[in-house]
Amino acid sequence: MDETRDFSPVDDEILGGADSTASQGPSKPPAGLYLVATPIGNMADITLRALDLLRAADAIACEDSRVTLKLLQRYGIKARLIAYHDHNGAEARPDILRRLEAGQVVALVSDAGTPLISDPGYKLVRAVVEAGHHVTALPGPSAVLAALSLAGLPTDRFLFGGFLPPRSEARRKALAELKAVPATLVFLEGVSRLPEALADMAETLGGTRGAAVARELTKLFETVRRGTLAELAALYGREGPPKGEVVVVVGPPAEEAMGEGDLDAALTAALAHSSLREAAAAVAAATGLPRRQVYARALALKAGEIG
Ligand code: SAM
Repeated sequence: MDETRDFSPVDDEILGGADSTASQGPSKPPAGLYLVATPIGNMADITLRALDLLRAADAIACEDSRVTLKLLQRYGIKARLIAYHDHNGAEARPDILRRLEAGQVVALVSDAGTPLISDPGYKLVRAVVEAGHHVTALPGPSAVLAALSLAGLPTDRFLFGGFLPPRSEARRKALAELKAVPATLVFLEGVSRLPEALADMAETLGGTRGAAVARELTKLFETVRRGTLAELAALYGREGPPKGEVVVVVGPPAEEAMGEGDLDAALTAALAHSSLREAAAAVAAATGLPRRQVYARALALKAGEIG
């Protein structure tokens, strides 16, 4: 298979770059499927390239035409909308493939954020690749990455857990499978289930793990609450479900996985080439352990109280 052809980005000269703002607009992009990220709340969060592509598209495949029309109207874009959602994929794919064969430009958008991320589209991408048509992504907003970057938890390795099962028993089972994963975990969650989901997370993953609840990202009432899983579970247990949309981020199982010996070894290595403060900061960032705790351990190590 020719990977270069299948996944090559659209040529900047053809689709945007310096020419994209010229009064005559960009020239028509090559035929293919374009996965276009759209705002997750703030309507201004859309790239110039996305707007150019949506303007040039012969058809825009979307989940809910009312949601997509609102975005298009905001930017004065007139377009042919076709439905592509969880319930019509099997019937809609042949139509989209026929359009691509006929040389059309088809955009795929979801209601919000990056298509295919807990949204429909992967079977369509697979079918388009198998049929040998051009497919490319126009990156942009995603609640997953926005929450991860705001959480204040390690970002070097993360696992996207999507939506957890709605029922507690199945949810706990799914969480138990993820308990030992040495990475930050990111979950989408419906607000009505947030208190019980956090309680299950605290019990199954460990209440001392650092976590964050990112709500209404990019919107007027954006809030990020950070604490341990036990603290957040208690907070939402008291307050009840919040309004809006949320993403839950859970730090790695550093305390459980990292024994004191491992922590001491990491600190000793860091202390060999940096100050106490720098070594504690670096190890805290790498492990996700609270800075104060790591600093106290480093202090004791340096004072010779340990080892
Ligand atoms: N594909 C989307 C993306 O890339 O952001 C995710 C789609 S998924 C069906 C919708 C879920 O994303 C919501 O239930 C919520 O968990 C999360 N979400 C979407 N927008 C959000 C926002 N503005 N603030 C917080 N969470 C959001």
